[in-house]
Amino acid sequence: MNIAAGISDEDQDMFDYATVSHGLYIGGRWQPSSDGRVIEVVDPSTEAVIAAVPDATLADAAAAVDAAAKAAAGWRETSPRRRSEILRRCFELMTERAEILAALISLENGKALRDARSEVAYAAEFFRWNAEEAVRISGEFGLAPSGANRIIVDYQPIGICVLITPWNFPAAMATRKIAPALAAGCTVILKPASETPLTAYALAALYEEAGVPPGVVNVLTTSTPGPVTAAMLADPRVRKLSFTGSTGVGPVLLAEAAKHVISCSMELGGNAPFIVFDDADLEAALDGAMVAKMRNAGEACTAANRLYVQAGIHDAFADGLRKRMAALNVGPGTHTETECGPMITSKAVDKIDRLVRDAVARGAKVLCGGAIAEGKGYFYPPTVLRDVSADAAMIHEEIFGPVAPIMRFDSEADAIARANDTEYGLAAYVYTRDLAKGMRVASKIESGMIALNRGLMSDPAAPFGGVKQSGLGREGGQKHGVAEFMEAKYIAVTL
Ligand code: NAP
Repeated sequence: MNIAAGISDEDQDMFDYATVSHGLYIGGRWQPSSDGRVIEVVDPSTEAVIAAVPDATLADAAAAVDAAAKAAAGWRETSPRRRSEILRRCFELMTERAEILAALISLENGKALRDARSEVAYAAEFFRWNAEEAVRISGEFGLAPSGANRIIVDYQPIGICVLITPWNFPAAMATRKIAPALAAGCTVILKPASETPLTAYALAALYEEAGVPPGVVNVLTTSTPGPVTAAMLADPRVRKLSFTGSTGVGPVLLAEAAKHVISCSMELGGNAPFIVFDDADLEAALDGAMVAKMRNAGEACTAANRLYVQAGIHDAFADGLRKRMAALNVGPGTHTETECGPMITSKAVDKIDRLVRDAVARGAKVLCGGAIAEGKGYFYPPTVLRDVSADAAMIHEEIFGPVAPIMRFDSEADAIARANDTEYGLAAYVYTRDLAKGMRVASKIESGMIALNRGLMSDPAAPFGGVKQSGLGREGGQKHGVAEFMEAKYIAVTL
C-alpha cells in the first residue's frame, strides 16, 4: 500500500488497523451489516480498491437509533466537567495520532498530505474548543416585565442527532458536529460519505479510547442514504439533523425532516467570489488566492470559485497566478512532495472538464492546465483561465477542483454586484489595503463569512455557515456550535 514516507512502524501498524473495516460502530460494538453487503473504498490516486466497509440496512439504522437512545440518559446526566475531559482527551489522541490520521485521509480522499495534516489539526481543534464550551453552557434568569414572576431559561440537550457528512473533509466535517453535540449532552449517529468512511471509523475507535461511552457516538455507512436517513428521521426519538453536503441534497433532507418537525442545520455548497482591488498587496493577494483556491485541490465549499480582479492589477495578478499554479506538484495525495492531489472520483473530473470546455467555448483563454491528465487516478491539472464570460457555467456552479477563472472588473459597485450574483452565500474573499473599503464591501456581500486580506477563514472559534442556498445555522464559534444541539426550556416561576 502506498503511504506517506516518514510514518513510524508503530503508526504503520495502526494504519493497517485503521484501514481494515471494523464494521458498523453501533452501541460500542463493531458489526457487519445485517445483510452482509459491503461498500468498496477506492484510492482516487490509483483507482485501486483499498478496503470495504459494511453497507447498513434499515435494520442497522434502527439498531443505531436504539443504541443512541439507550446511551442518551447516561450521557445527558454525565457532568459537564467529565464530558469536557473526555472531549479534551479526544483532542489529545487526535493530536498524538495526527500523522497516521493524515495518511489515512490522504489515502481515501486523495488530498495532499500537507492538506490532510492541516485537516487533522483543524478537526482535533473542534474537540479542544468544545471541551472548553462544555463547561460554559449557561442559562438566563430575569424578571417578567409585569413583575409577576421570574423567567428562567435552561438550555437542554436537544436529543438524538443524525449527522451526515461529505467526503471532502472526512475528519473535520464529522468532528465539527460530534464535538458540540457531545458537549451539549446529545448522543449521535454519524453517516459519513461512502467515498471516505475509513477516517470516520478510525476516529470512532479513538473516541472509544478517549472514554466516550458505548452508544454515545454510532457510525454507519450505507449505499442507500436516502431511505436509511428517512427511517432514522421517522423515529420520534431523533430530534436533530445536522447535514453538510451539496445544495442538491440539502433541501431533500429538509423536506424529509419537515415531515417530523425535526430541527435542521444545513451546511451546503458555495460559490465564493475572490475580489482583488487595484490597491491590494499583489503578493499577499496571490498567496491568499493559492490558499483559497488550492486548499484540498479546490475541493472545498469555501474554495474561491470566481476571481474578480480590478483592471489596474488584473494582468499582473493573472500572470502571477499562472506561474504559481503551473509550478504546483501534482501527484498521489500520500506522497510528501504532492501539492495537488487527485479529485475524488472520475465523475468529479468529468464535471470539471465540462465546465472548462464550456468556459473556453464562451471565449475564456487558458493560461495553464485545461485538459484531463492521462493515466491512472482522477487527476485534473491546476488550471488558470482569464477573460471568462459571466455566463460561463463555472461562474454559477461549484467547480470543486483546481480551476481558477479570472474576470476583470472596474468599480467597487461592479465587484459587489457580480459577487452577489449567485444563489449561494457561504464565503467571500476581499483584498485591499484600504480597510474602510474592505469593511464596506464585506458588509455588502451576501455571504455568511468574509476573509478580508486572508485566504482562509475556517476556525473552530468562529461561526461557520452560509446564507441563501448555502445553508441554515452555524457550526463552531462562541455558543453558536453548541446552541445548534440545545433547546431552550423556559420556566415561569413566582418566588
Ligand atoms: P452530497 O452528495 O450532498 O453528500 C453529502 C452526504 O450526504 C454524504 O454522506 C452522502 O452519502 C449523503 N447523501 C447523499 N444523498 C443523500 C440522501 N438522499 N439522503 C441522505 N443523505 C444523503 O455532497 P458531497 O458531494 O459528498 O460533498 C460536496 C458538497 O458538500 C459540496 O457542495 C460542498 O460545497 C459541500 N460542503 C459544504 C460544507 C459547508 O460547511 N457548507 C463543507 C463541506 C462540503 P453518500 O456518500 O453515501 O452518497
